[in-house]
Amino acid sequence: MQITGTHFNYYQVCKRKLWLFANGINMESTSDLVYDGKLIHETSYPQRSERYEEVEIDGIKIDYYDARNKVIHEIKRSDKVEEAHVWQVKYYIYILERNGIDGATGILEYPELKKTTKVNLTDADRQKIKELEEKIAQLISSDNCPPVINAKICKSCSYYDFCYVEEEKDS
Ligand code: SF4
Repeated sequence: MQITGTHFNYYQVCKRKLWLFANGINMESTSDLVYDGKLIHETSYPQRSERYEEVEIDGIKIDYYDARNKVIHEIKRSDKVEEAHVWQVKYYIYILERNGIDGATGILEYPELKKTTKVNLTDADRQKIKELEEKIAQLISSDNCPPVINAKICKSCSYYDFCYVEEEKDS
């Protein structure tokens, strides 16, 4: 299976989420929060698609790429899992490099928080990405789904009902 930016993001957020997603159990279309996040893309920057390109390459999809300045713009609703967002963008930069586009950088944008975070790829990150690619591949090919993590983030996860419905029934 081809590793994507979403795999990198989910690996940081929750191993179970990554496993479920990678094994074809996809709840995203029914999640209001995900829908909400997609809507932010469209409403926050209506002119954006004219200025930036959409890039699909090696299994990743960058929605807003400023080719002239080599800047990836990634828009998110909340910064609760910012570390995961950062690694998603680092992985995008890594894939661009692997395809001959050197010197790209990224900006995470949180329009609702009026906040931006710059993202760069270092040599240490390149090494870590290689290690993570192996770990992600191992995890998603495992027969065992990792356990629930009982974390705050679960409440806003699209798999919440899937993960906790039995517990709620029992309580
Ligand atoms: S609800 Fe929690 S345990 Fe389940 S996939 Fe999402 S983050 Fe992981």
